[in-house]
Amino acid sequence: MGVQPRSVVIVGAGQAGCQAAASLRQLGYEGALTLVGDEPAPPYQRPPLSKAYLKGELEADRLWLRPIEFYAEQNIELLTGVGAKSIDLAAMKVELGSGARLPFDALVIATGARPRKLQLPGAQLDGVMDLRTLADVDKLKSRVVPGARMVVVGAGYIGLEAAAVAVKLGAQVTVLEAAPRVLGRVAGPEISRFYEQAHREAGVDLRTGVSIQGFEGTDRVRGVRLAGGVVVPCDLVLAGIGVHPNVEIAHAAGLLVGDGIHTDGQARTAHPDVYAIGDVARRPLVHYHRDGRLESVHNAIEGGKIAAAAILGQPAPVLETPWFWSDQYELKLQTAGLWTGADEMVVRGDPATRAFAVFYLKEGRILAVDAVNSGPEFIVGKKLAASASRVAPAVLADKSISMKDIGAKAVS
Ligand code: FAD
Ligand code: NAP
Repeated sequence: MGVQPRSVVIVGAGQAGCQAAASLRQLGYEGALTLVGDEPAPPYQRPPLSKAYLKGELEADRLWLRPIEFYAEQNIELLTGVGAKSIDLAAMKVELGSGARLPFDALVIATGARPRKLQLPGAQLDGVMDLRTLADVDKLKSRVVPGARMVVVGAGYIGLEAAAVAVKLGAQVTVLEAAPRVLGRVAGPEISRFYEQAHREAGVDLRTGVSIQGFEGTDRVRGVRLAGGVVVPCDLVLAGIGVHPNVEIAHAAGLLVGDGIHTDGQARTAHPDVYAIGDVARRPLVHYHRDGRLESVHNAIEGGKIAAAAILGQPAPVLETPWFWSDQYELKLQTAGLWTGADEMVVRGDPATRAFAVFYLKEGRILAVDAVNSGPEFIVGKKLAASASRVAPAVLADKSISMKDIGAKAVS
C-alpha cells in the first residue's frame, strides 16, 4: 500500500460519499475519516423514493445505506445536517456552515445534484414540488391520496416512476412532457413508445410535446396553464425535469468545472489531493472513449471505489459498463451501456408480451441494451456492450437463439 493520508474529508453523505468512506476502511485506511452531509438523515438510498417508499411499502429505516452503528464501528465521523460552505485549497481545509474548519490531506467531493427548477410564473406556489430527498418524498406522500389530481411535469425516470405509483394509489395523473417522446434522454424511441402505451393503459393522461406557460392559484396550485391557454386543473404538481450538479463549492475553490467537476480515470480533479465522484463528477467513460457525467447508483458506487483506491495508492477496480434500472408498474427496465450515437436498433421479442429488449449498435458493434422484464438480455447484453461485441442484427432478433448462445458466439 502507498503512503496513507492522515485525514480524509468527504463532502456529501449520499450514495457516492458513503461508498468512498466504506471503501477506504475496507482497503485498510486507518487515518481520520469525516463524512459531511447537509441532510439530517444518515446516508440513504434514493431509488426507493420514487418507487416502494412513495407507495408506502417501505419504512424510512430500510432506506439507510448502512446500519447506524456502522459509522462508529468503522471510526467514521459522520456529521449530518451540516453543509460544507467552502474549500480552502491553499490551507487544505473545508469550512462548514457551523464555522468549523476541517483539515484534510485528501478531499472527496460527492455533493450530488439538485432538481432543476421550473422558471415559470406560479412555480413557487404551495403544491409545486420536486423529488430528490427523503424530506421531499415525505411531503409528496401526504398529498398523493386517492382522487388527488396530480400533474407530473417531465417524463424522465422520476416523472414516470412517480406517475406509476400515484396512479396505483388512486390519484388522477396527467404527465406533461416538453419533448416529443418520454424517456428521451435515456432510451431509444421503441422504449418510449412502449412506456407511453403502458402509462396510458394504466390510466395516466400522458401528453408529449407540451409547452407549459405557468401555474394558476393564489394560496396553492390549482392548475397548470399550457401554451394556447388551456388549463389542466390540479391539486399538486411534481416537477421531474432533470438535475444540476452541485458544483458551486468546487468552482469557487478554483477546480476545473463544466457540467460537473472534471476528473481523470482515478476520480482526481485538477488538484492532486481532491477527488470528485457520483452525480457531481464528469469522468472518463472508458467503454465509450469520451468523458461524461452519469446519474446512477452504479456510477456513484464505482466512483467511491475508484477514489478510495486512488487515495490509498492501490490499483483501480475493474470498471463495468454503466448500468441503470427503473421500476414502473410490473415492468422492470434494465439498461446496460449508453445508447447515444447508435446507428441501428434491434428489437428482440414482442413488446406486446411486455418482455422484450432493444439492442443499440454502432457500426455493427453493441453499444447498449434496454431490457424490459428480460433478465438474460440484460445480463448477456451488459457483457456484449462492455466488449463492444459484433453480433448480426438477425441473430439478436431471433428469439429461437438463446442469449447464452449469442453471448458465447459474439465476436469482440
Ligand atoms: P446524492 O445521492 O445526491 O448525495 C449527495 C449528498 O450530498 C446529498 O445528501 C446532498 O444534500 C449532499 N450535499 C450537497 N452539497 C453539500 C455540501 N456543500 N455539504 C454537505 N453535503 C452536501 N439511480 C439508479 O441507478 N437507479 C434508480 O432506480 C434510481 N432511482 C432514483 C430515484 C430518485 C427519486 C432519485 C432522486 C434518484 C434516483 N437514482 C437512481 C439516481 C441515484 O440515486 C443518484 O445517481 C445517486 O444518488 C447519486 O449519488 P451521489 O452520492 O452522487 O449524490
Ligand atoms: P431526466 O431524466 O433528465 O428527465 C427529465 C425530463 O423532463 C426530460 O425528458 C426533459 O426533457 C423533461 N423536461 C425538461 N423541462 C421540461 C419542461 N419545462 N416541461 C416538460 N418537460 C420538461 O431527469 P429526472 O427524471 O428529473 O430525474 C432526475 C434524476 O434522478 C436523474 O439523475 C435521474 O437519473 C435520477 N433518477 C433515476 C432513476 C432511475 O435510474 N430509475 C429514477 C428516478 C430518478 P428534455 O430532455 O427535452 O429537457
